Amino acid sequence: MPSLDAELLPELDALRAHSRFRERVVTQPQEGAFIERGGRRYLSFASNDYFGLAQFGAAQSMLGAGSSPLVTGYHDALSRLEAALAAAKGTQSALVFGSGYLANLGIIPAIVGKGDLIVADKLCHACMIDGAKLSGAALRRFAHNDMAHLQRLLAVRGEYRRCLILTETVFSMDGDCAPLAALGRIAEQYEALLMTDDAHGFGLIENNPATIQLGTLSKGLGAYGGYVCGSQTLITHLINHARSYIFSTALPASVCEAALASLQHLAHNEALRQKPLMLARRLTQALGLPEAQSPIVPILIGEDAAALAASVALADAGFWVPAIRPPTVPAGTARLRISVTANHTSEQIDALASAMKELLCSI
Ligand SMILES: *Cc1c(COP(=O)(O)O)cnc(C)c1O
Repeated sequence: MPSLDAELLPELDALRAHSRFRERVVTQPQEGAFIERGGRRYLSFASNDYFGLAQFGAAQSMLGAGSSPLVTGYHDALSRLEAALAAAKGTQSALVFGSGYLANLGIIPAIVGKGDLIVADKLCHACMIDGAKLSGAALRRFAHNDMAHLQRLLAVRGEYRRCLILTETVFSMDGDCAPLAALGRIAEQYEALLMTDDAHGFGLIENNPATIQLGTLSKGLGAYGGYVCGSQTLITHLINHARSYIFSTALPASVCEAALASLQHLAHNEALRQKPLMLARRLTQALGLPEAQSPIVPILIGEDAAALAASVALADAGFWVPAIRPPTVPAGTARLRISVTANHTSEQIDALASAMKELLCSI
């Protein structure tokens, strides 16, 4: 199967030939308007930190990046964070965006466009769909996790240049997982590219076959920002083509350090990584539901008003469980969305289970 890298490399060579190739250099802010970059000290006129406020905060760690990564915003904490993300995912390289939304919006149009085909799971997050629309590629949706439907849609694969399959690893409003191994096989069979959004799967998903592995720092890692992991060539291509990367200020060092600290903490703490899923399974067992596949446990209600009423009843009992309604979920599938975390205790899970049982009997 022709790899994406093999297709991207000549384009990158062409950029080099036209003096259009872009590279990042780690840039460290120094006192005043000075920077250090590539082992040299400069007085910088490249920052958008007009009022010098990035260095004004009580802590140096509040430092704003000052400009986009291709100007002088690519700092040491950012480069260490990218290395740690690539190591965590087992890929050659990683690239950090301003947010998960920005990552999707930038990456999809950098990979596909007019004359290409996108096939996306019906339940894909809004920002994947927004990225797909922005790309100008033809967009088709397959029924949630339905591999037979996906293959029927791929029957027209031959009419398009590139083909991109979009899915989430763990679905944000349903808590179930995509069949990644099957998706990987189908992608190979149809010479398509697989791209996954791991916003809710961090630490849960192993052996992801996707060529393009996106995620966010704002959920499991408790920080902020988006990222993508993949081959060195893919990342270099995105640095040169993803508009939401090129034209947006890099994340502040403080945020990168926070994400790095979370990554290291998780890497060394197996028990912590397991805890949310174990507690979620305790809850599904208590409620007689199918075993939880992730820390997200949806309780399907149906009508919007009924879901709201259920949420209010739980709130009265001291539990804040949001009611999720359209357009976030399809009409007629309003639900309570329980998100279990390592901050919960077994006793608290049991208390919620009792309150839920009482509530579900009464509606
Ligand atoms: C939350 C979420 C995003 C957006 O990530 P942000 O970093 O909050 O912008 C993207 N994809 C999925 C599946 C999400 O749940």
